[in-house]
Amino acid sequence: MQSGFTACPGLFYATPARDGILSRIRIPGGIINSTQCCVLADIAEYCGGGYVDVTNRANLQIREIYTTIDEKILGRLQNIGLGSSNTDVDHIRNIMSSPTAGIDRQELIDTRPLVQAWDKYIAVHPHLSGLPAKFSVCFDGGGTVRVCDRPNDIGFAAVLIDGNLYFRLHLSLNASKPPMDTGILLNPEECLPVLVALAEVYLNHLDTTSSRKPRLRELLNTLGCKNYLQEVQRRLPFPLQSVGSQEYQNQIPTNQYKHISIHPQRQSGLSYIGVILPLGRLETVQIRRLADLAERYGSGTIRLTPWQNLLISDIPNQRLPDIQREIESLGLHWSVTNIRSALVACSGNTGCASSATDTKGHGRELAAYLDHLKLSQPVNIHFTGCSKSCAQHTKSDIALLGVSINQGKATVEGYHVYVGDSDQKFGREVYQYVTLAELPTLIEQMLRVYKIQRLTPDESFGEFANRHTMAQLKQLFSPNKAKVKSKE
Ligand code: SF4
Repeated sequence: MQSGFTACPGLFYATPARDGILSRIRIPGGIINSTQCCVLADIAEYCGGGYVDVTNRANLQIREIYTTIDEKILGRLQNIGLGSSNTDVDHIRNIMSSPTAGIDRQELIDTRPLVQAWDKYIAVHPHLSGLPAKFSVCFDGGGTVRVCDRPNDIGFAAVLIDGNLYFRLHLSLNASKPPMDTGILLNPEECLPVLVALAEVYLNHLDTTSSRKPRLRELLNTLGCKNYLQEVQRRLPFPLQSVGSQEYQNQIPTNQYKHISIHPQRQSGLSYIGVILPLGRLETVQIRRLADLAERYGSGTIRLTPWQNLLISDIPNQRLPDIQREIESLGLHWSVTNIRSALVACSGNTGCASSATDTKGHGRELAAYLDHLKLSQPVNIHFTGCSKSCAQHTKSDIALLGVSINQGKATVEGYHVYVGDSDQKFGREVYQYVTLAELPTLIEQMLRVYKIQRLTPDESFGEFANRHTMAQLKQLFSPNKAKVKSKE
């Protein structure tokens, strides 16, 4: 295993972190079987910290590695279909797809074959190792659980137009916004050639004398998106069809966390259950038990999601109460009313030197404090140890940015608090330098006010925050608790 070879960790390019070596395993489309889960649990136990983290690209990460993942272990992973068969391209980002591909009742197309086709293409074309580690691709089948708004360099989003199925091509031009629709419509069989051409044009413009590889969006902005696409067109045997994008762009759906809890599948009599992993982490005993549940109740399939949790699919409806009970017995949750359903944290100062705070530890403490508070829909609370925002690149309902706070001679950990949407990276800053001691009661107050004052049960915390001015929010959230509680 090489170490520190690229800026992004992979299985064959492990990266040193504050808590030991970090190894990331690509899981194309996030789909993994029970056998693979058990092998990963063995490795996390033997080489790492005894747990795995699900990342926001539906990868798996093993941390705290002090015992080398040697050739034998790597071979074992490759033998069960984990880890790229071509180590040169292992660093390229995981391929994202809707975690409900093939089981979503509303999807327009099952995107799993496209994920597999691109993964195979990368594996047999070693020159693609020239692509940057962050070269990211997503396929969205147009179902209930959408991923086309997730941060990816390139996205293919299924749409129906006049009864015909197409993919719209999305490209990322701005790091702080979801990928933009280009107005280009593709037939499904055109996606792979277009993806290849997009990659080849990138490589053609790459400055091989520089050690830094730009993001695709940098090149798109430098060359101009139109010029870049003209170069793509010259490499294709078919014309790119272009239609207007404005109307569609304004309607690109975002529906995070719709996969939590129980949902009927397109296969009659079967359902999937979305399981909450507190802060994306699974102990090895939980991995093995979940693999066993997937085997006994379903088809042995586990689907990791970019929201750092997972689905167990193909469960006969009459067996749902039993699997719900078994999931709870593992100390895990499956209900959207649980505060952990959309709680996200980066690795924090136990694993990352850039972090001002112990984000994961504080996330766990906040969840325990708010456990009694039942929500009717997930509220996405995002703890981040610095502005890099590794755990979540999209806007959250409540963002908490870690800071150090001077209190006389002592320094304590705390957070700046942001809500809803704005041009700012984390939303609108509503409070600064909130100490850890003050944080739980403040967040509880914010959530209680939201539950009472939202316009409809469907209004998200972010939407609620967005329709108020900063002055109104501060007044609403001010500690007049007696008044707030009396309204419940
Ligand atoms: S967001 Fe910042 S502190 Fe958190 S893991 Fe990333 S670099 Fe480290």
